[in-house]
Amino acid sequence: MYGEQQVDSSLIDEWACSDARALPGSVDVAIIGGGIVGCSAGYFLAREGLRVALFEKGRIAGEQSGRNWGWVRQQGRSPIELPMMMRSLQLWLELREELGDIGFAQGGSLYLAEDATQLAGLGEWLSVAREHALDTRLLNRTELAAVLRTNERRFKGALYTASDARAEPSRAATAIARAAQRRGVQIFTHCAVRGIDRAAGRVQGVITERGRVAASTVVCAGGAWTSSFCRSIGINFPQLTVLGTVARTAPTREILDGEAWCPAIAIRRRADGGYTVAHGGSFLHSLTPSTLRHARKFWPALVQDHHSIRVRLGREFFTALSTPASWGMDEVSPFERQRILHPEPEKQVLKQMRAALQRCFPEIAPAPFVETWGGMIESSPDVLPVISPVAGHEGFLVASGFSGHGFGIGPGAGKLIADMVRGVADRNEVHSFRLQRFFDGSPIRPGPSI
Ligand SMILES: Cc1cc2nc3c(=O)[nH]c(=O)nc-3n(C[C@H](O)[C@H](O)[C@H](O)COP(=O)(O)OP(=O)(O)OC[C@H]3O[C@@H](n4cnc5c(N)ncnc54)[C@H](O)[C@@H]3O)c2cc1C
Repeated sequence: MYGEQQVDSSLIDEWACSDARALPGSVDVAIIGGGIVGCSAGYFLAREGLRVALFEKGRIAGEQSGRNWGWVRQQGRSPIELPMMMRSLQLWLELREELGDIGFAQGGSLYLAEDATQLAGLGEWLSVAREHALDTRLLNRTELAAVLRTNERRFKGALYTASDARAEPSRAATAIARAAQRRGVQIFTHCAVRGIDRAAGRVQGVITERGRVAASTVVCAGGAWTSSFCRSIGINFPQLTVLGTVARTAPTREILDGEAWCPAIAIRRRADGGYTVAHGGSFLHSLTPSTLRHARKFWPALVQDHHSIRVRLGREFFTALSTPASWGMDEVSPFERQRILHPEPEKQVLKQMRAALQRCFPEIAPAPFVETWGGMIESSPDVLPVISPVAGHEGFLVASGFSGHGFGIGPGAGKLIADMVRGVADRNEVHSFRLQRFFDGSPIRPGPSI
């Protein structure tokens, strides 16, 4: 039963929505997907007075948006997406009152270095920070001790951005969805979109498992499902997924107010007094036919991140092989067959996380992992978002490929989507995030993945 597949449950804000309501006959914009991107897009569209309906096959924030580390960071991002992230941080701050308690705090982010070479490597990002007038600094061991209150002397220093923030994934997207609903967005959970209504190359609306809704614009913010949705309507959207393993600890001593990362471990202070913990660089890619289909485009990213991505051939390959690429609109679609992507966390990674916690942050290591979960992270070939119209499909916008860092940038992405729908978006940004970059001969240069 999909309702039982809940994770990160200590702070959970269960979405209660009357799914039995009748679908509207028509809206201005139909949104596919109730993650942070779809919900934020709905919020900003409604704020501009557009009529919006949002369809979620499972539960609001049931997938990536409710399973992530909760980092709202500018630090380390590609200069291409940094301006959108900086605007996003301003939006998180502006929306604080309207969203209520989502555990938002500007506790800073740390990338830790064990030696001078690592520290110098991290320092390379300072030029990006300076160009964008960010408050990022390189801390030496003494300065670090004031931010990371641990006796552990293993770290030589860190890259630090004090204005970076955190928020609780189990609350944030749900709070944005509620705010959107208050502004008039009609939200239907447990309601998959099976396909698109089209005439003469133009979108006419969506076809859901409960019937049709006319719309002149359709935004697909389907997370890890975007590629298969697009494929079913004849659009090539290059996307692959990796599995991340996450745990939360029981409440324990406060050694930092924000988040810290090194290759072995990542921790983030939680609103319940514990930490969200993950391996700093261990993700699993299960081979599927999509891997083969998109291998060439993803090759540069795989080479860049080869030390942190393990590849496995398992039953996922055969499951994907037997999943249809298209279906009739009166048939149950793959989106209804799997309401929530709910992968198992990896036991061996959890063990490594425990050992790394002991090594790096012994003060908090005695706190037990009280909950563990898996999250399927979707990525684009250059590890940057795609927020884009699609040639030959007028009225269809795709917004995915957030590549493991879409939570923090979610509100900013939602605002950009709303601006694009209204035709007022910044042209340079529209160009940077276009889908066509993967097909027009532009070189694929992956941005940083953490
Ligand atoms: C383990 C992990 C750690 C991460 N850590 C961070 C972090 O610290 N900071 C950060 O910024 N980002 C992080 N991320 C990435 C971030 O969570 C995602 O980039 C972001 O949540 C993507 O939001 P989304 O709305 O695009 O997708 P999702 O949250 O995946 O939402 C997409 C939704 O669309 C629905 N859907 C799909 N197809 C259909 C359909 N046909 N009909 C109806 N509904 C449909 C799905 O059910 C799903 O709920 C992490 C992700 C994971 C998994």
